[in-house]
Amino acid sequence: MPVQTKEKNAHEVALENFDMAAEALNLSDDMRAMIKYPERALQVGLPVRMDDGHIAHFDGFRVQHNTARGPAKGGIRYHPNVTKEEVMALATWMTWKCAVVNIPFGGGKGGVCCNPKEMSNTEIEHLTRRYAASILPLIGPQQDIPAPDVYTNSQIMAWIMDTYSMTKGYSVPGVVTGKPISLGGSLGRSEATGRGVFNTIESALEHLRLSLKGARVAVQGFGNAGSVAAQMLESNQARVIGVSDSRGCVLNENGLDITKLNQHKERTGSVVGFPGSEPIRPEELLALACEILIPAALENTVHGGNASRVQAKLVAEAANGPLTPEADRILEAKGTFIIPDILCNAGGVTVSYFEWVQDEQHMFWEAQDVYNRLERVMKIAFKEVLRIHVENKVGMRTAANMLGIGRVAEATKARGLYP
Ligand code: NAD
Repeated sequence: MPVQTKEKNAHEVALENFDMAAEALNLSDDMRAMIKYPERALQVGLPVRMDDGHIAHFDGFRVQHNTARGPAKGGIRYHPNVTKEEVMALATWMTWKCAVVNIPFGGGKGGVCCNPKEMSNTEIEHLTRRYAASILPLIGPQQDIPAPDVYTNSQIMAWIMDTYSMTKGYSVPGVVTGKPISLGGSLGRSEATGRGVFNTIESALEHLRLSLKGARVAVQGFGNAGSVAAQMLESNQARVIGVSDSRGCVLNENGLDITKLNQHKERTGSVVGFPGSEPIRPEELLALACEILIPAALENTVHGGNASRVQAKLVAEAANGPLTPEADRILEAKGTFIIPDILCNAGGVTVSYFEWVQDEQHMFWEAQDVYNRLERVMKIAFKEVLRIHVENKVGMRTAANMLGIGRVAEATKARGLYP
């Protein structure tokens, strides 16, 4: 379960971050009124026939926060704690994130309140197809393009693509990204977020004049984003000493073997019990003596109650919204360098954009081509955020928000107000 706090909910955090950046940008009240809140939020009730024959009800959401710069883009999350407020926050962050890496998309997000770990594949497929049919009026390759997020994957994207295509009467691969390669997915998409996290860590270490070689790393959340970032760091001579998932946490001060840890997780479903590691309590992971901490699980895991224990010099937010504003303040006061989520984990949406471009052109790129383009995008975005951070003497999060929000405001100003 994600760590719960009594602090603000994710959407309140997103609004607070917006206000700080809007202040720093000197945005007019009119512009704030135009871009602060979601454009559309659809809530759907999903009756699903379960394997034992009974019908269960699930709540689902799809939110389009802003489409000034292009179609809405953002993942779909299946998790028992999904709420409309969480989806609104995630959609808001997607808007600024797409603008930070300067891709022509707006922000959207979806979620279904369910526990996929307790559901069979057939139940997940039925739920997914019903959800896809229910949000059908909102999605489409020129409108709103879903992708995987927590506890959703390429198979779920394939079911959404199929459901959408069957209602149209022809195949529409561009309606989702993060699809299987056989359906028009992009090479490099599954590693994209973790690779992007790694690219921004490289840039941050260069700025901080710290070496990657031998740097100690702790990763909270060994899923898609966290495990790939860990693998990339290990391949580049960093030492990943601690890793956690929802079931527990493992430590090896000499460095965990990430390839073997991946195999162990695949075999057992968890990092827990990895041979050669010792178990530690999840709270201890955040407090490990290390250079780099990567929160790669869920929102609000670093908060007012535990942030002061963080020892890392660099916090790379692979997850969306892992630090509460209170944690931000505590870490900033300690001089911790933060790579904010909308920059750090933007590699996923960047390669989703590449996938959409390839689908639209019916032309596919080689993996190395994807990696090179991704690295270029991430390093340019990092440089631009760093410039704002230095020139305006604001934190990295406000700097990233200023870049993203500033671009959305510029596009909105050019479009004007309808009607
Ligand atoms: P995932 O489902 O692949 O992995 C999530 C991992 O977090 C799992 O290993 C789970 O066990 C672990 N976890 C859950 N609760 C935890 C807790 N309290 N403590 C420690 N571990 C916990 O999901 P993912 O795609 O890797 O996404 C992780 C984060 O990264 C989310 O915030 C997501 O929004 C963000 N993100 C993902 C992508 C992407 O392309 N996958 C892109 C951008 C941002």
